[in-house]
Amino acid sequence: MSADVRQFDVIVMGAGAAGLMCAAVAGQRGRRVAVLEHNGQAGRKILISGGGRCNFTNLHCGPENFLSENPHFAKSALALYQPLHFLELVERYGIRWHEKTLGQLFCDGSARAIVEMLLAECARGGVEIVLNATCTTCCVAGGPAGGFHVKTSAGEFQSESLVVATGGLSIPKLGATGLGYEIAAQFGLGIVEPRPALVPLVLGGDEAGWTGLAGVAADVVAWADKTSEKHPSGAKAHADIAGNMRGLKAPPPSETRAKAHSNIAASTAVRAKALTYQSYPFKAQQVSAAVEGRLRTPFHFKEKMLVTHRGLSGPAVLQASLYWRPGAELVVDFASGFEVSHPSHKDQPQVLRLTALAQNDNRVGHPTPGVHGIPPIRIEREWMGHGAVILKALREPGARRDLDALRKALREALPRRLADYLAEIGGPQGWTNAALEECERRLHRWEFHPAGTEGFEKAEVTVGGVDTAELQARTMEARAVPGLFFIGEVVDVTGQLGGFNFQWAWASGVAAGRAC
Ligand SMILES: Cc1cc2nc3c(=O)[nH]c(=O)nc-3n(C[C@H](O)[C@H](O)[C@H](O)COP(=O)(O)OP(=O)(O)OC[C@H]3O[C@@H](n4cnc5c(N)ncnc54)[C@H](O)[C@@H]3O)c2cc1C
Repeated sequence: MSADVRQFDVIVMGAGAAGLMCAAVAGQRGRRVAVLEHNGQAGRKILISGGGRCNFTNLHCGPENFLSENPHFAKSALALYQPLHFLELVERYGIRWHEKTLGQLFCDGSARAIVEMLLAECARGGVEIVLNATCTTCCVAGGPAGGFHVKTSAGEFQSESLVVATGGLSIPKLGATGLGYEIAAQFGLGIVEPRPALVPLVLGGDEAGWTGLAGVAADVVAWADKTSEKHPSGAKAHADIAGNMRGLKAPPPSETRAKAHSNIAASTAVRAKALTYQSYPFKAQQVSAAVEGRLRTPFHFKEKMLVTHRGLSGPAVLQASLYWRPGAELVVDFASGFEVSHPSHKDQPQVLRLTALAQNDNRVGHPTPGVHGIPPIRIEREWMGHGAVILKALREPGARRDLDALRKALREALPRRLADYLAEIGGPQGWTNAALEECERRLHRWEFHPAGTEGFEKAEVTVGGVDTAELQARTMEARAVPGLFFIGEVVDVTGQLGGFNFQWAWASGVAAGRAC
C-alpha cells in the first residue's frame, strides 16, 4: 500500500445532509472519519432548501410520508431518530425556528445556520472534511488492512467502512451525480429506477392552452391516477449503470466476504440507544385525509396548484408528482370545498359518521343493537363539502343559465382567470340539470394528461435509488457487503414535500453513524 494513502475508520462520500449527520455521529463515537465532497462547499442543497430557510423537519413525520418499494423499510431509522431529536439539536445551537403549516419546521433566519451546526457537530467529532475531492476509483482494498480504497482528485483514502451519501440525481448544477448508484451497482446491489419527483409537470397537445394562465394559483386537491403502472423494465434496474462508469472496480467476491467477517464484529459492537421522546399521537396529514374520506391510495394532496409557462406546479402538483408515472393522469379537484350534487357518484369523497343513538331511537339508518349498556350506533354516509354545490347559483328557481352565469358562479370559488378558462373549456353541454351535474362532476375530477416532468434539473428529489432489500433497516449497511452503507436520498426512500426528506437524511445518517 502506498504511503500516500490516508487511513480512516470511516469514509463518507458526500457532504450533504445525510453525510454530515452520519460523519458527526460516527466521529463523536471516536471513529476517525473523512468526508469526501466534490463541491467546493459542504451542504449546498441545505443552503437553498425551503426558499433559503430550510424546512428541516416535520413534526408529523411517519413512514406513511415516504415512498419506497418497501414501505416498511424506513420505520426503524425514523423511530430511532425522530423530528424532536433534530429539534433538540437545533435548539442546543440557539437556532430560531417556527412551524409554518402542517408541522413543517423552518429556520427563522438563513438555512446556513443548519449547515454551520452540522459542521460544528463534525468538528466536535474530529471529522475531516475534504472538499474538491472528485472520486475516480472506489474498490475493496486488498492487503492486511482490508476495507475500502477510494482514489480522488484530492488524494487516496482507505477505511474500514464506506458510507455512500451522494444523494440522488436532482439538480445536477448543485453537484448531483449518479456516483452512489454506480457504487451500488459495482457491488452488485439492485437499484430501483431513479426518476425525478417533487417536480413540475409539463402540459402539451390539447392541454398546452393551460399555460396561458401562467401565474394563476388555486386551492385544489390533486392526485396522480393509475399509479400502479410499472416502468417497462420492471421494478429494478440492476447493474447497467455500472456500464457507464470509468475506473470503479468491482471487488472479487472472496475479498468481499473476507471483509465481511472483520466488519460484522465492529458493527454489532455498537448499538444505538434510542432516546425516548414522546411521539406525536397522530399525523396531521393522515387525520385530515381520514376526515375527508381520502385515506386510500393514491394519496390526495389538498394544497395550492400553480399554472406555469410549461404546465403545472405548486405544492399540490409537486406532491402528486411523487406518484405520477408517464402515461398516467393527474387529477385535480377544482371544487374541493363543494359538494357534488349527485351523491351516488361512487368516486366522490365521503365520511362515515357514527352516531350514538338513544336506546329507543329507531329512525333512519341501520342501527346496531345496543349491548351491555353501550347505546346503539347508526352508521351514515355523509358527503363532504359545505353542503353547497359549485353551480348552486344556476340551480335556483328562475336563475339564468348561460355562460355569464357560469363564469360568475365559478368566480365565487376560483381565481377569475381560472374560472373564466374553465367556463370556456369545461362548460356544460346544454343547461339542463343533468348537464350542470355532469359539469360539476368534471370540476371535481379534472383529468390532465401531462406530457412529462421538468426533469432532474427542476426536481427537488429523486424517487428510487439503492434497493432497500439490499440494506439492513437499522443500520443502512449492505447485507452482502459489510462495512458498506447507503444513506439519504441515494436510497429508495423518498419523502413527501414538507421537511420529510431532511428527516430521512438525518435519521438514516444517524442510523449509519452509530453502526459504521
Ligand atoms: C431546491 C431544493 C429545495 C429543497 N428543500 C427541502 C426542504 O426544505 N426540506 C426537505 O426536507 N427537503 C428539501 N429538499 C430535498 C433535500 O435537499 C434532499 O432530500 C436532501 O438534501 C438529501 O440529502 P443527502 O445528503 O442524501 O443528499 P444531498 O444533500 O444531495 O448531498 C449529497 C452530497 O454528495 C455530493 N456528491 C454527489 N456526487 C458526488 C461525487 N461524485 N463525489 C463526491 N461528492 C458527491 C454532493 O455534492 C452533495 O454535497 C430540497 C431539495 C431541493 C433541490
